[in-house]
Amino acid sequence: MNRDADPGAVAVGIDLGTTYSVVAQVDANGQPQIIPNSENQRTTPSVVYIEGGQIVVGSVAKEQTQLGGANTIQFIKPFIGRRRKRFIVGGQEWTPEELSAMILRKFVADAENNIGGHPITHAVITVPAFFTEQQRKSTEDAGRIAGLNVMSIINEPTAAALAYGFDALGIDKTVLVYDLGGGTFDVTLMRISGHTITMLATDGDVQLGGKDWDERIIDYAAESFIKNHGVDPRQDPDTLQMLYGQAEQAKLRLSKLPSTRLTVTSQGLADTIDLTREQFEDMTDDLLSQTETTLRLTVQQAGMDFKHVDEILLVGGSTRMVAVRRMLQRLMGREPRHLLNPDECVAQGAAIHAVMTQMRLRENGAAVPRPLVREEHLERFRQMEERLINSHTLGIIALDAQGKQVVVPIIPRGAHIPRKEIKTFRTSADNQQQIRIMVMEGENTNPEACAQLGMCLVKGLPGDLPKATPIEVCFECTQDGQLHIQARLPMIHQTVHSQIARTMGMTEEEILSSRQRIESLTIS
Ligand code: AMP
Repeated sequence: MNRDADPGAVAVGIDLGTTYSVVAQVDANGQPQIIPNSENQRTTPSVVYIEGGQIVVGSVAKEQTQLGGANTIQFIKPFIGRRRKRFIVGGQEWTPEELSAMILRKFVADAENNIGGHPITHAVITVPAFFTEQQRKSTEDAGRIAGLNVMSIINEPTAAALAYGFDALGIDKTVLVYDLGGGTFDVTLMRISGHTITMLATDGDVQLGGKDWDERIIDYAAESFIKNHGVDPRQDPDTLQMLYGQAEQAKLRLSKLPSTRLTVTSQGLADTIDLTREQFEDMTDDLLSQTETTLRLTVQQAGMDFKHVDEILLVGGSTRMVAVRRMLQRLMGREPRHLLNPDECVAQGAAIHAVMTQMRLRENGAAVPRPLVREEHLERFRQMEERLINSHTLGIIALDAQGKQVVVPIIPRGAHIPRKEIKTFRTSADNQQQIRIMVMEGENTNPEACAQLGMCLVKGLPGDLPKATPIEVCFECTQDGQLHIQARLPMIHQTVHSQIARTMGMTEEEILSSRQRIESLTIS
């Protein structure tokens, strides 16, 4: 039996982007629709302006960055999940999660107004496929600080593939999702077959995006300015903020025009700089090559070749750059088709996923809102199925033959989930009373280069165990992204269980205190 959620409450899908965020909802006809913000824009700049208790999010805050940028902050997403990262904005310290929560609060409130005042209580939020567990948990924390019940965190390329696969039911295609946004790059290979979307391989870079292309223009303009005036305009924080805006505008123009012009003013001096598309492409060629290398590796990881790829889905605003499309055309031997709106498909997929999750959770009796979709259109959502892969290797710390700590992989990156793996380890000393199992995530054997996901302790051992007693460690990754760990000592028939479900990140108290802090502010 369902305990019904707040009557009238609804769930949405949210693409919380580095530069822009988008919210969508599936309507009564089963169609995902973007919900515009209060400025009637379909995408909201992920920029925050703070002064006293007054917070402004979106285009006004973005315009403010172009006027010098005091009290504003942008490009928050790459910092999410960094435990100690603090931003000083408007004279106060904020965590990346709190700032992200302000962005969420703004467009959720706007969306509520736009859909007739229905409270938005539940959401699915998307993240790059390459995000670590820590970054996923922090994204979930940001949602909770904003007062949302986060039903699920899903990968952006999976969401894009859902939006695509949903419209093209019954197709059988290998699809490459090339997602170049403002601050992150993701590539994912998928098989869409009937109603099932299977992830085959994924890779990416959480520190590569349109912003890096902008910075190349800034450097070019600054060098020209230095040559003419002997002054580096990047030294002045206000001018630098303005340069960011101008460089981005110049880049956008170069997606349409063969050349453009920027005017840089600093310390009463002015300079006009001409820039051709060819120059822009030359100065950013290495960035594009980085994405090409990642693309090649991802296709290889799946044991495939570009000739096996039937379709490339372009996601993220930066895929509008002419050079990106040219490179993909060279690799594919044909022009990539523009099947989806690159700015909106992730949020649409998240909204589709929200309906799938609502149905599953309600079947299990959870108090989540009823989807708006009319019964006759629900069948499509019931039939959709996603098969995911693990985006980072999971393992534990053990001692190697030289007694050095190393990370031993248990579930490799790229493994299909759900997945269960067992590996046998041995105790390192005589008479061990307890065994500490450090669970790690990462592609390196050096523990320092990996992230610690959690720890599980096998306690109360008999005390007379000889060194090298075998311990079986079992890792089980479930469909909903949880990791269950079991350690068994076959010699003494002792078993311990532990569940790691995004245990790192903020504590419940920290989330609550941040939530109270954000709730006390006026956000517009
Ligand atoms: P997203 O995070 O997906 O919203 O992507 C935003 C990024 O796409 C920003 O870096 C924008 O500057 C960039 N972008 C948007 N439109 C264009 C365009 N027409 N040409 C080049 N870059 C663009």
